[in-house]
Amino acid sequence: MKVAVIGAGAGGLVSARELLREAHEVCVFEQSNQVGGAWVHDSETEDDPLGIQPVKSIHSSLYDSLRTNLPRDLMAFMDYSFDSHGGGDDHWERYPHHNLVLEYLKSFSQHFNIHPLIVFDQRVTNLEVAGDNQWRIKTASGIDECFDAVSVCNGHYTLPYVPELDGASNFKGFFLHSHNYRNPQPFSEQSVAILGAASSGADISREVATVAKKVFWCGEQFNSPTEQVNNGLSRHPIPQGFNQQGELLFRDSAPVSIDSFIFCTGYRYEFSFIGHDIISVTDNQVRPLHMDLVHPAHPTLSFIGLPYLIIPFPLFEMQARWFARLLTGSHQLPTETKMIVDLVARRSDLTKTGSKDRHYHRLGEEQFSYINKLASQCGDNPLPEWYELLAREVQQARFVNPEHYRSVPLHYSGTTVV
Ligand code: FAD
Repeated sequence: MKVAVIGAGAGGLVSARELLREAHEVCVFEQSNQVGGAWVHDSETEDDPLGIQPVKSIHSSLYDSLRTNLPRDLMAFMDYSFDSHGGGDDHWERYPHHNLVLEYLKSFSQHFNIHPLIVFDQRVTNLEVAGDNQWRIKTASGIDECFDAVSVCNGHYTLPYVPELDGASNFKGFFLHSHNYRNPQPFSEQSVAILGAASSGADISREVATVAKKVFWCGEQFNSPTEQVNNGLSRHPIPQGFNQQGELLFRDSAPVSIDSFIFCTGYRYEFSFIGHDIISVTDNQVRPLHMDLVHPAHPTLSFIGLPYLIIPFPLFEMQARWFARLLTGSHQLPTETKMIVDLVARRSDLTKTGSKDRHYHRLGEEQFSYINKLASQCGDNPLPEWYELLAREVQQARFVNPEHYRSVPLHYSGTTVV
């Protein structure tokens, strides 16, 4: 089949590799001038610090100091190790700096001969159904071409999710989303509130605390009114908003005066190039998708990399393999009706467990069974034993020692030399 891949980040590159392995004809459309997507650091930031309506959008959300939050043996694609045997170096740190992840992805692209298949500086502006089970792709620079199938790999860490805060207009200080955070210097000697306790929130709070006067780190997980972590850094529950004086309000403690507020609240999915008659995003839920992956009515359209709270590269790899093999007919989908019924059932199950709609694509614990299910359906091997053991060990290390987990030795390891 002639297949288009949209995006040359990790998801796009591994999709291209899997499609090639199944002897499909592949063309990768990439809007920028290089591979790597989220791992291409950009020192420039957007003119809108919250990233809601920037004049020029910046794709990457990497801050200067970012090191991976996963060991490189766990991040590696299953058959391309993150060491000197594959696309890395044995001497690299186990949690490498972001520029080494980019190096790994570039090597992957060269090694599997994907580079010649990529058309750079081609932003896809339109993807629509054409006659005879075809997909028509148009780019901003005038390409207009039809394909038998499409893998959408456009990433979902670029458009900030910014929750509303009561009285926000009373605050006269500086609002920023982590998408546009690069380093702590602008916050020197300031009082700063940081909302969000996932990876970026944790890293940025600690980094800002090295130069700021005070950091109020707020997250759903923090229950007690105030918990001092170290000099200047304290943990708080979610703030209630701002009062008339522009001070930050907490339920169980006195209002605080701050200079800056940083949202580390995650990102939104968007597919501006696809009509809402095909795909809609409601409350951050991309619908309708079977296995978070293919469109029930158009099973030649796939979305690689939507799940989050996962170990991304190996999950992308299995999704890509499953789709490449689906196109060759090596495994079959349930009927369209069955896929829709399953989707409705899954939404209702999640609602019963109290999960919010906007967390529909959050896999977390489910990621291992999800990968194994895809593997078994497409005739591949299940995850090796070390994978889940190492993943759980890392999760535990981060929980116990959020500040220094990257230097804690790990008992388990993958095939990569570490
Ligand atoms: P991206 O890498 O974003 O690639 C998408 C590509 O599509 C880009 O090249 C983009 O230019 C292109 N594109 C988009 N729209 C179009 C269009 N219309 N036309 C043509 N091209 C288009 N993961 C880890 O495994 N370990 C970590 O430690 C880790 N840390 C992270 C830290 C931060 C701050 C962030 C934001 C993410 C982190 N991730 C981490 C997740 C990371 O995003 C994934 O690992 C992965 O790189 C995502 O790959 P992707 O291909 O889905 O998207």
